[in-house]
Amino acid sequence: MTNVPEIFGRSVYNEHVMRETLPKDIFKKLKKTIDSGAALDNSIATVVANSMKDWAISKGATHYTHWFQPMTGVTAEKHESFITPTDGSTVIMEFSGKELIKGESDASSFPSGGLRATFEARGYTAWDPSSYAFVKDGTLYIPTVFCSYSGEALDKKTPLLRSMEAIDVQAKRILHLFGKNPPRVVSSVGAEQEYFIIDKKYYDKRDDLMFTGRTLFGAKPPKGQELDDHYYGSIKTKISEYMKDLDEELWTLGILSKTKHNEGAPAQHELAPIFGTTNVATDHNQLIMETMKKVAEKHGLVCLLHEKPFAGVNGSGKHNNWSLSAEGCGNLMDPGASPSENAQFLLFLSAVIKAVDEHQDLLRISVASAGNDHRLGGNEAPPAIVSMFVGDELEEILEAIISGEEYSQHKKEKLEIGVDMLPRFSKDTTDRNRTSPFAFTGNKFEFRMPGSSQSIAGINTIINTIVADSLCEFADELENAEDFNSALSKLIKRTVKKHFRIIFNGNNYSDEWVAEAEKRGLLNLHSSADCLPMFASEKNVKLFAKHKVYTEAELISRQEVKLDSYIKVLNIEALTMLEMAKRDILPAVILYSKEVAKTAKLKKELGVDSEVEMDILSKLSALGKSLYEKIDVLDAAIIKSKEIDDTTKKATFFSKDVFEAMQLLRAVADELETIVSEKYWPMPTYSELLFKL
Ligand code: ADP
Ligand code: MG
Repeated sequence: MTNVPEIFGRSVYNEHVMRETLPKDIFKKLKKTIDSGAALDNSIATVVANSMKDWAISKGATHYTHWFQPMTGVTAEKHESFITPTDGSTVIMEFSGKELIKGESDASSFPSGGLRATFEARGYTAWDPSSYAFVKDGTLYIPTVFCSYSGEALDKKTPLLRSMEAIDVQAKRILHLFGKNPPRVVSSVGAEQEYFIIDKKYYDKRDDLMFTGRTLFGAKPPKGQELDDHYYGSIKTKISEYMKDLDEELWTLGILSKTKHNEGAPAQHELAPIFGTTNVATDHNQLIMETMKKVAEKHGLVCLLHEKPFAGVNGSGKHNNWSLSAEGCGNLMDPGASPSENAQFLLFLSAVIKAVDEHQDLLRISVASAGNDHRLGGNEAPPAIVSMFVGDELEEILEAIISGEEYSQHKKEKLEIGVDMLPRFSKDTTDRNRTSPFAFTGNKFEFRMPGSSQSIAGINTIINTIVADSLCEFADELENAEDFNSALSKLIKRTVKKHFRIIFNGNNYSDEWVAEAEKRGLLNLHSSADCLPMFASEKNVKLFAKHKVYTEAELISRQEVKLDSYIKVLNIEALTMLEMAKRDILPAVILYSKEVAKTAKLKKELGVDSEVEMDILSKLSALGKSLYEKIDVLDAAIIKSKEIDDTTKKATFFSKDVFEAMQLLRAVADELETIVSEKYWPMPTYSELLFKL
């Protein structure tokens, strides 16, 4: 049996290793940098690099890499060996402080959304000491940020770190008003990861899965998820062996893999780690996704991280659990036990309510992708409308605060912030709603819109920034107040009243909610093409510039990259569909028709009734013709898309015309699948993909 404490963090250059291998004063300086986020003292880099190298070599490493997170959403790495020639015939293993701190790489092959045009092609990576280095497959991985020569962020990590700083600054201003002065306020994240596992032998026969990560064709199997027998069901042996290996790999990388279970759809599962500091949780989520895929291959399986690999059954998301905490103050999203803590909690809660309402657009944008468009609004995921769930009890409290009336569950006359105690509401009562996009779950917020394949960096950059902005406004007002307590009460009351429309505890999947949300004036941004062009709006440019998270150029570049990637994904999907329809499906229909026609002819010659064959044949003919026409329609749409230069218009064209042509083509092909003999059908069916393992 695996000795978990023994293997945990075995491949990580963590605090324990640092303490053991570094001279005391160097360790202290490094620790200070890690804890406070202060700039690294360059003079210690050489010693740290050397110790890191020796440790890495003892773990079997021959190379190092500056590991970074470009705007592609996946991680990037370029491996350099430690070798340095000595006298021409031998080498020694070296790693300098300079090599640890800074790397240079050609940025021109990474998406930059126009940033590169204004600057030069060179990009730099810089060590982020707040996330531990680790050894994987013979290489020392050094987490880094990635920026251009003039310091523009070309990655997802830099803005995230900046947003953590913004919320640290603003939250500390608020805590100071409550007489607390913690060294640092950190945002923490626990990302629950959903995924599908299928047999590699079926995967290899599906071009759509290989090229796009999702099935572009596929008739519904006789059984879907209607029996609800997969969620939390007993785990198949092959899957549990996979999960065991996966856990072990993650534990050696110091990742706190905690929960695993079957999810709602057949072949769908979930893994959740114990939460951590946002940037580390982000790195870990990238490693989790990568390891999930790698370990699957070792087991002859394939892990699908796409948001909607199969039509008709649930897609996969990533629940982003978010909170704030500070040394000596605990979890700032916990209601606390004293009136003063309650008041502080209500202020932080108000900040989140205000942030979510004022920046519905940004939260929607943060989860926009071609893959996630299939999911949002589907029956398993929150709709594209952003709203917030707080639970009935807390909602009643907020209502009482607004009206100044008596809170029914409460003995006192009326609820006075900072004087009375909030009634203790249990965690259970706050988390019954699974349909809400943004749910308060007792001491944290669970953002349920993110897609399963997404990096959580951008999402948390946005959550941190919008909440920091609320806190900043609050601090501006309260710092100047003559009477803190009365100003605080007024502020909370005013804020909750103003933004109460964002709170919705009902069923987010219902049609009534769509109508109600419209009445409340909430945004309903259906597709990525609808929301992405709003990313670099005037409001958002101002917001991110104010908190030094994105410059205007950086924000515009993110919008461009996201739109561009959306278009490219749909283009690849359309081309893959066309190829499969033309070269696999249509020929299969023709061949099968030939077989049926031959039988019909033979039967006729023998004087036997051939009504069935003739009926099937005419159906095949009609559907075959329809398929042929739909191929033409999609072909034409793709050709037309090439004439559109404007990115926003192009994205809209893809989201409407191309997407619709794809749907129509699929519908015909899926119908054909139900009548063409299995022997002739050119690819594994949903039954095989979802149930046969
Ligand atoms: P669920 O009921 O949604 O399945 P859990 O209550 O088990 O989930 O928690 C889900 C995730 O939330 C876990 O990753 C957990 O570590 C994380 N989490 C718990 N507390 C916090 C917190 N204060 N900040 C961020 N994430 C948290
Ligand atoms: Mg959850």
